[in-house]
Amino acid sequence: MDIRNVVIIGSGCAGHTAALYSARANLKPLVIEGHEPGGQLGMTTSVENFPGFPDGIQGPELVENMRKQASRFGAEYRIGHVSKADLSSKADLSKRPVELTIGKEVIQTRTLIIASGASARWLGLPSEHALIGHGVSSCATCDGFFFSGKEIAVIGGGDSAMEEATFLTRFASKVTLIHRRDQFRASKIMLDRAQANPKIAFLTDTVVDEVLDVGKKEVTALRLRNLKSGASWDFPTSAMFLGIGHIPNAKIFEGQLDADADGYLITHKNVFTKVAGVFACGDVQDRRYRQAITAAGSGCMAALEVEKYLEEEGH
Ligand code: NAP
Repeated sequence: MDIRNVVIIGSGCAGHTAALYSARANLKPLVIEGHEPGGQLGMTTSVENFPGFPDGIQGPELVENMRKQASRFGAEYRIGHVSKADLSSKADLSKRPVELTIGKEVIQTRTLIIASGASARWLGLPSEHALIGHGVSSCATCDGFFFSGKEIAVIGGGDSAMEEATFLTRFASKVTLIHRRDQFRASKIMLDRAQANPKIAFLTDTVVDEVLDVGKKEVTALRLRNLKSGASWDFPTSAMFLGIGHIPNAKIFEGQLDADADGYLITHKNVFTKVAGVFACGDVQDRRYRQAITAAGSGCMAALEVEKYLEEEGH
C-alpha cells in the first residue's frame, strides 16, 4: 500500500489552506472532504471580515476559490468521510503511518492534519429531530427560500443567530429570534443590525420545550416557556432555524487524542497534538476565535509543521 505524505481531514478554510501550503511544498496532499464540504463557510452568506475583499464575498465562493487555488498546485480532493483513524496502534509513533478508514478503503499516511471543523448544534428534542427537513433546519442559506412569505423562528443569541435572522428576512414575512437569556453573545454590529431590522422581533428568557406538529410532519408552532415567569404557550410559526453554536467533529479521535469537556481537541504550540506527526487546526481545536481567518491561519501553521516533521523524519 502506498504511504501518503499528508492527508487532510476536512475541506473548510483550515483544510483548504493546509492543502494549499502542503501542495506548494510538493507534498501532494489528499483532502478528505467530509459530510459538509466547504465547512461552515459553505453554508454562510456574505463574509465581510475576511481581509482582501473590501466589498465582502459570499462564503461558498470564498471556499471554492480556496479549493481551486490548492488544486492548482496539485492538492487531491476526495469525497468521503473518515469513519476510523488509527493513530497509535504501533509502538513506535515516529515510524508508523497513520491508518484512516474511508468507506471500505484504508489509507496510510505519514502525517495527518485534522481540519474537521465543527457541526451545527441541535437542541436535542425528539420533536426537533423528527421535523428536521420539515420546517426544522440549521442552515438558513440552504432552506430559507422554502419559507417565503411565512413566519419563521430563529433560536440563539450569538452571531450565527443574528446572521440567520437577518438573512431570513429576505424571505420571511416576520422573523422572531428566541433566546434563552436577556444578554446576547453576538457582536455589537450584528446585534445592532438585527435589532434595527423591522422584520425581526425578539423573545428573550425563553426556551423551546417542543416543536409541533410531529403528527402533521410539518412545523406549525413551538411550545415555548419563559424562564423567569414559568409561563408556557404555543407560538405559531412555519419553521425553526437553529443558530446555537457548533460541536467539534472529533469523535473518531476519542481515547487517542486529548479533548476538553466540550470535545474540542487540545493542541499545544498552536497545532500540535500529543501524537507526533498529527496536527489539528481550525474549529475542531479552537473554541476561542472560531473565525474563517483564524482557521485559515492555523491551517497554514499545520502544513508548515508537517513539512518540518517530514524533513526531520527524513522523507
Ligand atoms: P456562540 O457564539 O457560541 O453562540 C451560541 C448561542 O446559542 C448563544 O447565545 C447560546 O446561549 C445559545 N445556545 C447554545 N446552546 C443552546 C441551547 N441548548 N439552547 C438554547 N440556546 C443555546 O455560537 P455562534 O453564534 O455560532 O458563533 C460562533 C463563532 O462564530 C463566534 O466567534 C462568532 O463571532 C462567529 N461568527 C461570526 C459571524 C460573522 O462575523 N459573520 C457569523 C457567525 C458566527 P448563551 O448565550 O446563553 O450561552
